[in-house]
Amino acid sequence: MDLTKIREDYPILDRKIYGRPLVYLDNTATSQTPREVVDSIVSGYTSTKANVHRGVHTLSMEATELQEGARRKVKEFINAPSTDEIIFTRGTTEAINLVAASYGGTFLHDGDEIILSVMEHHSNIVPWQLLQRRADIRLRVIPIREDGSLDMDAYRSLFNEHTRFVTVCHASNVLGTVNPVKEIIAEAHSHGVPVLIDGAQAAPHLKIDVQDLDADFYAFSAHKMYGPAGVGVLFGKRKYLEMMPPYQGGGEMIETVSFEKTTFAELPYKFEAGTPDFIGIAALSKAIDYMQSIGIDAIAAHEHELLEYTTKRMIEEIPGVKIYGTAPGKCAIISFLVGGEHHYDMGMLLDKLGIAVRTGHHCAQPLMHSLGIEGTVRASFAVYNTIEECDLFLNALKRVSAMLM
Ligand code: PMP
Repeated sequence: MDLTKIREDYPILDRKIYGRPLVYLDNTATSQTPREVVDSIVSGYTSTKANVHRGVHTLSMEATELQEGARRKVKEFINAPSTDEIIFTRGTTEAINLVAASYGGTFLHDGDEIILSVMEHHSNIVPWQLLQRRADIRLRVIPIREDGSLDMDAYRSLFNEHTRFVTVCHASNVLGTVNPVKEIIAEAHSHGVPVLIDGAQAAPHLKIDVQDLDADFYAFSAHKMYGPAGVGVLFGKRKYLEMMPPYQGGGEMIETVSFEKTTFAELPYKFEAGTPDFIGIAALSKAIDYMQSIGIDAIAAHEHELLEYTTKRMIEEIPGVKIYGTAPGKCAIISFLVGGEHHYDMGMLLDKLGIAVRTGHHCAQPLMHSLGIEGTVRASFAVYNTIEECDLFLNALKRVSAMLM
């Protein structure tokens, strides 16, 4: 992997923050976007912009082909059986809301139970809680072990005759833990229960094969995988998508409309009301090309090297550091605290030294409660980060810790 060449694709990495080189370690929140993906957005607006699907003119057909080409690309990327099962959304959040509202709103009733984990992002908790306004649905929570791995024995023990749905993240945005989702799905299926996987943190780092996993639903966001913001994907098995009612009404999702009766379009359009971000969707396709041109395994191996190097040095060189999430095989995410120092103070001071890290509860307040903390500092890596940047981060962290202690 030629890191110098890779970094040239990201003009933002040349920025100075308070006169120092930017060290961008907030990749879990969003990753940066390489020039070729940005170029595709520019050319989408400067040479092919036309609304998709409705037109017979050349531009509209080109725009439609770019969007539908992206759907084929995503299908291959996650090894879905059919493009009919690929629904474009605004992101992981909308994908989960779609399933909660449409599947949950139709098939979950008073007394039913949903199993989810304590490490879920708010976007995989709140949509299920919204259902509780309509029905008396209970959330059953899988706890974690000391190292941040899921307690699989506890998971198995949560099933009973009321269990109707399971939803877990593939990888945690706080702990980095990669959950054994294949095993989780197999267990749920043995009880006849469908499973949604929140893949927001897995898609940028892991090969995803929804058929091998046997996932019923799988959601992810483009902006965390070198693509644009505002675009995401929901994969759903045809058998579920067909039985689910539309999530939103509008253009594109209908077959015929009259004031007496409206019939809905076939999959996937039934779930894609209104004009989508077709230029962003085409850019997601470019982002997948980009990741595949480097190789997802190569990206993961590089990030893993940065993770190991930084973790080891933090433990050896930063007195009082505590890392949250040490499960084997975790993603390149380091959530930590130093002594009794506040995560916010550390993040602010690191910023003054050019280091971009995230601080706070990371949209995972229930996890924070279970860890007995309010928040952490989180450093996370992407393909363009270097060992030199890890050194800059470690030196800055040493300074900041010494200053605060
Ligand atoms: N789930 C997880 C695990 C995440 O990390 C995030 C983003 N931080 C989301 C869901 C929500 O993704 P988005 O904001 O792109 O919809």
